[in-house]
Amino acid sequence: MRLAGKSALVTGAARGIGAAIAQALAAEGARVLVTDIDGNGAAAVAASIGDTSRAMALDVRSEAEWDAAIDAATAHFGGLDILVNNAGITGFEAGPVAHDPEHASLADWRAVIETNLDGVFLGCRAAIRAMRPAGRGSIINISSRSGLVGIPAASAYAASKAAVRNHSKSVALWCAGQGLDIRCNSVHPAAILTPMWEPMLGDGPEREANMAALVADTPMRRFGTVEEVAAVVVMLSSDECRYMTGTEITIDGGLLAGSAASPAVAD
Ligand code: NDP
Repeated sequence: MRLAGKSALVTGAARGIGAAIAQALAAEGARVLVTDIDGNGAAAVAASIGDTSRAMALDVRSEAEWDAAIDAATAHFGGLDILVNNAGITGFEAGPVAHDPEHASLADWRAVIETNLDGVFLGCRAAIRAMRPAGRGSIINISSRSGLVGIPAASAYAASKAAVRNHSKSVALWCAGQGLDIRCNSVHPAAILTPMWEPMLGDGPEREANMAALVADTPMRRFGTVEEVAAVVVMLSSDECRYMTGTEITIDGGLLAGSAASPAVAD
């Protein structure tokens, strides 16, 4: 029970990584407000956790809905100790779209930035305000491996996730400069098997080959699991990490440890 007595809010938690984070935080004793743009999905996850969890709809792009979510966390739990800004989109949810720097439309670019970056800005702002009375807390922003390298076919996604990494550092410095024990760190997963991948995997005979191709460059040669990401978030949420702020953790099966051009032997 590393998080006993703490309260948490997780965005985009109706499924995938967010749902696993909500469940892992609760398993360590936190009371969790499960939120998602899909309120019914959030309610199902909260129900699976039990009495210590609540659910509500939260579209991370909406200032008004952030206010309501923070009010709900305060009303149910008496405050907020942990915020996990997990909600994110790739821009490919409705099918193939041009997201390269030459052909992407401004509307498609903005849609990704609005959820992935504006949503994180609003969440961090709301959390700092909610955590200030107690003077402590942990904000964890789910960025991506794509926030650390360029992704030509998903340039808005990559730019948004790079900005999330950098904004996490601004938040960390702002809070420390204010004399607040509010930490902010970013997590950078890669190739975690969730519904986000479905449009790229397909459901026909090509699925297995697509999966293998997608992890062919990953040194550990497999997708990561949502539980493996949730475990890192639990650690960053806990007081074990009280001296960690403004930093990032990659969880990518070794992908960023080398490069495609790494020599096989020392030369
Ligand atoms: P999923 O698509 O499986 O889940 C994302 C959840 O966020 C969905 O329930 C979705 O709801 C919800 N959501 C979408 N838009 C909003 C919004 N505006 N407000 C609130 N909720 C919203 O994604 P993953 O679990 O795979 O990814 C979670 C996070 O991890 C994302 O930030 C992603 O970028 C990041 N990540 C994931 C990786 C991976 O390999 N899976 C790798 C690197 C980073 P709905 O479906 O109803 O739209």
